[in-house]
Amino acid sequence: MSDAERTRPVWHPRPQPVADPSLPSRVRVYEVGPRDGLQAEPEILPADVKIELCRRLYASGLGAVELTSFVPARWIPQLADAEEVVGEVEVPEGARGVALVPNVRGLERALAAGVREVSVVVSATETFAQANLNTTLAGALDRAREVIAAASVEGVPVRGYLSMSFGDPWEGSVPIERVADLAAELHGAGAGTVALSDTIGTGTPGHVIEAVERTVAAGVSRERIALHLHDTYGQALGNVQAALRVGITEFDSSTGGLGRCPFAKGATGNLATEDLVWLLHGLGIETGVDLESLVRTSQWMSRTLGRPIASRVATALTAAGVS
Ligand code: MG
Repeated sequence: MSDAERTRPVWHPRPQPVADPSLPSRVRVYEVGPRDGLQAEPEILPADVKIELCRRLYASGLGAVELTSFVPARWIPQLADAEEVVGEVEVPEGARGVALVPNVRGLERALAAGVREVSVVVSATETFAQANLNTTLAGALDRAREVIAAASVEGVPVRGYLSMSFGDPWEGSVPIERVADLAAELHGAGAGTVALSDTIGTGTPGHVIEAVERTVAAGVSRERIALHLHDTYGQALGNVQAALRVGITEFDSSTGGLGRCPFAKGATGNLATEDLVWLLHGLGIETGVDLESLVRTSQWMSRTLGRPIASRVATALTAAGVS
């Protein structure tokens, strides 16, 4: 055997699963790449590319994909083609195709386009509500209530994001009791799932556990709490592990780490789906996701966007010969 042959990989690396019986046996990966990822990419992609991205994500076994956002095009020009994307993407039987809506007008557009599940954003801080949602903290909650009420008439479930749950770029620390109370209010108003969102990525494992436990104590059951984690400071996977230990079974992530952190220029934002899936599979946790298929999607997106993949796992598997 020559040296070249000896060093050429003969298998595609994958984690060797060792299950921890104290952790959940199955986790839902909630893919946010087409919405949260692409809205933070500077480039505006053609609708065809977005449609193909969503198709590939479902084909990889992802059961929940946030497809787009029905916000006014002047706010987020990257997603101005929401109707076209939703109209063309076929959501597989049993899978979820979610669209973010900013208000009742957005909900009406989403419903008219055929969307059957929506998400809303509220804020754990006053400053983020004013800077990003153009309202107050209370105003954002009222808007979410209006959307939930209108959606429930149509039998459409609503998922609520609670932004800046673990830190705020203007206010710094965010009181955990406030996060728990707001999560409970949002859930009480009818949001089926509340995603505690680490929008700037500053959360650490103890903080995550405390936020989950206080939210449970405030009246939201564990299966109704999701975590939306960012990897800006390299903490996302540690935080996932902490959350698994306290019974959380839904995590947001974006394939190839699509999307940058709008509050730390140049830094990475969303936790990459490949990195999340590697950890979960290594822990013997079922996801239904085909990791190599995701990597091929990230390679295609990387070529399309002309920038490297922001996922350690996808980058390493590409180097190991997955193509
Ligand atoms: Mg995000």
